[in-house]
Amino acid sequence: MTDPMANPRIIDGKGFAAELTARVATAVATLVPLGLVPGLAVVLVGEDTASQIYVRNKARQTVAAGMRSFEHRLPAETSERDLLALIARLNGDPGVHAILVQLPLPPQIDSEAILMAIDPAKDVDGFHPINVGRLVTGAAGSVPCTPLGCMLLLEHRLGGALAGLEAVVLGRSNIVGKPLATLLLRAHCTVTIAHSRTRELAGVCRRADILVAATGRPGLVRGDWIKPGATVLDVGINRIEGPDGKARLVGDVDFEAALKLAAGVTPVPGGIGPMTIACLLRNAVTLACRQHGLAPPAM
Ligand code: NAD
Repeated sequence: MTDPMANPRIIDGKGFAAELTARVATAVATLVPLGLVPGLAVVLVGEDTASQIYVRNKARQTVAAGMRSFEHRLPAETSERDLLALIARLNGDPGVHAILVQLPLPPQIDSEAILMAIDPAKDVDGFHPINVGRLVTGAAGSVPCTPLGCMLLLEHRLGGALAGLEAVVLGRSNIVGKPLATLLLRAHCTVTIAHSRTRELAGVCRRADILVAATGRPGLVRGDWIKPGATVLDVGINRIEGPDGKARLVGDVDFEAALKLAAGVTPVPGGIGPMTIACLLRNAVTLACRQHGLAPPAM
């Protein structure tokens, strides 16, 4: 049922991400003759299985797009000092244009100190406070990958006609909810951020022309929370046990119910997840160009 070809209401994030990745690869091919091979360093601390899969995927797609991938896998007991020393080396390495530290980090490491230590010019995730400030003020900086993926998908789906729409973002995290709300505001939407303390959540969601769920609560958004004709983006990635006893991935939205009412809804998997990785590659190329005083190619 998640085959986008089978139902035009399914927003094909996977297909759009593949097109974006192809455009990134074309952009890289124009940079290589200029002597610029964009380099992305990914740092993983510990043995978390999901994180290992993400990191492997990111490295594979980075290389497939013609870029350089630098993987740094450190043991779970790595000290904050050692991680800071690695970040300092990557900051100073001219072959590394973009740095990503996979979160979450083990408890002995202060994530904020690590994110602060990344050179803002190489901060591919856009989590450094300088880039957060640039996002809010509208200056050029790094835009976090998942929110950027949501916006590109929305602009593609709605033909750029976002101005004046009611947008409701469920979730207020620093990595998804808050930056996405800022981007929607920059696109002239009327934005509401809802969260675990919001009253009348269903009623708030029913106002939304654009509803984004980023809570990590499987099936939280039910069919009767969705305004007919709304566009629904499901950012949630939740591993639950299916009826057959096997683990499967679901989002925060009751997908089958949403399909009946929404004009469009992203599936999980195959929606926002692939867009996040495509945007990571896009961001890395943009950062590499800026560091070399080049205008980033259209992607
Ligand atoms: P988080 O735990 O940091 O934040 C969750 C937010 O949801 C909080 O702001 C909380 O207030 C809100 N919330 C929790 N329960 C709620 C409820 N019952 N009603 C209303 N709001 C509620 O999570 P996060 O890092 O923002 O991630 C959210 C989800 O998105 C997770 O499932 C995560 O795996 C997924 N995610 C997916 C991608 C992707 O590439 N698709 C990227 C990042 C995160």
